[in-house]
Amino acid sequence: MFNCETVRADFPILNRQIHSQPLVYFDNAATSQKPKAVIQAISDYYTGYNSNIHRGVHTLSGEATDAYEGARGRIGRWFGTEDLGEIILLRGATEALNLVAASLAHNLRSGDVILVGTTEHHANIVPWQQLETSIGIKIVPIPVDSRGTLSLDKARELTRNNRVKVIAIGHVSNAIGAVNDAAGFVSLAREINAFSVIDGAQAAPHMRVNCALLGADFYVLSAHKCCGPTGIGVLIGRRALLDELPPWQGGGDMIDRVSFSGTTYNELPWKFEAGTPNIAGTIGFAAALDYLEKIDFDGAIAHENRVHRHLIKAMKSRKSVELLGNPENWVSVCSFNIKGAHPNDVGTLLDQLGFAVRTGHHCAMPTMEHFNLPGTCRASLAFYNSIDEVDAFIEGLDRVAGMLAG
Ligand code: PLP
Repeated sequence: MFNCETVRADFPILNRQIHSQPLVYFDNAATSQKPKAVIQAISDYYTGYNSNIHRGVHTLSGEATDAYEGARGRIGRWFGTEDLGEIILLRGATEALNLVAASLAHNLRSGDVILVGTTEHHANIVPWQQLETSIGIKIVPIPVDSRGTLSLDKARELTRNNRVKVIAIGHVSNAIGAVNDAAGFVSLAREINAFSVIDGAQAAPHMRVNCALLGADFYVLSAHKCCGPTGIGVLIGRRALLDELPPWQGGGDMIDRVSFSGTTYNELPWKFEAGTPNIAGTIGFAAALDYLEKIDFDGAIAHENRVHRHLIKAMKSRKSVELLGNPENWVSVCSFNIKGAHPNDVGTLLDQLGFAVRTGHHCAMPTMEHFNLPGTCRASLAFYNSIDEVDAFIEGLDRVAGMLAG
């Protein structure tokens, strides 16, 4: 049974004081905090069996390889992927999206169309834009409705252009928190024989994601938003496609044989993992998933959603507050502005009171452009946040609004 108070004790950083106030950490969409179990797993690796993987015959290398490959298995079990060849371990969601775009480029021709959600993080826009420049593909944004959710119907209309070859959307938008109909977009892509690319960086921390059930061609996510370390992310792709795609980066580990007369490549997943990977980070991510299982992840999500609803309700009751979006299916994020105030001023004053929120465009400039905003303040929750913290935040925000009005 999930218990918020017990769980909070697992996160040492939550005891910090900021400007002599207890820290209230509402910047989880940027990165989550790390429980002791994750910090310990990383420390155990460096103190007990630090070694490079795969190529060594000595004991430490064997232990590190077992832990690294065991972590891949853990990740596979969590995300419903049995075939571990389909799990590519990378530096983050950004790197995973760059890999997908660069590799798919070989299947695309000038004039082909890529549908990209209007509310994407830059990581799911810029790699596709680079293909506009290099091979002349065309990006068409998928419209967003007034509530902040990507419109599947409008996307379907756009697919009347029979040159649509890729549909790339975020499972959850990072600036709004809208849960998009990932399954709907995946089946739309399948209907028109296009590739589906789902950016799950903001979904994985807030819901069970089963990649086998979802059936996307490519699903990417990031460990550091799921209580894991920074610098580790995952691409889960379909074997048949990954097998056909050329390797992305060249170097050690991704090869079978190298000779000046020609090089052959390793099998999946290593074909896409050139160089020494983030061994400690991968082990830390597996520890994070073990931890999430242990605390009752489903109970944790239910608690987080309750706290989120409490926050949204309180924010909606404030006349001085303007919310960005109002999605039917909404998780974690509350993006807002105080009328007449700049988000940076609001964020700075909130920090003085101990509240950590993010301000600005949240790496989603087209979202801001669409809603005609310079930026927002973004409070984003995790399961270790409490109703009491939200109440304190609302009180703090009222004070800040009063200061800025005065
Ligand atoms: N996609 C979304 C929706 C994000 O929110 C983020 C990070 O904020 C990223 C991609 C980039 O993830 P990473 O930090 O793993 O590169």
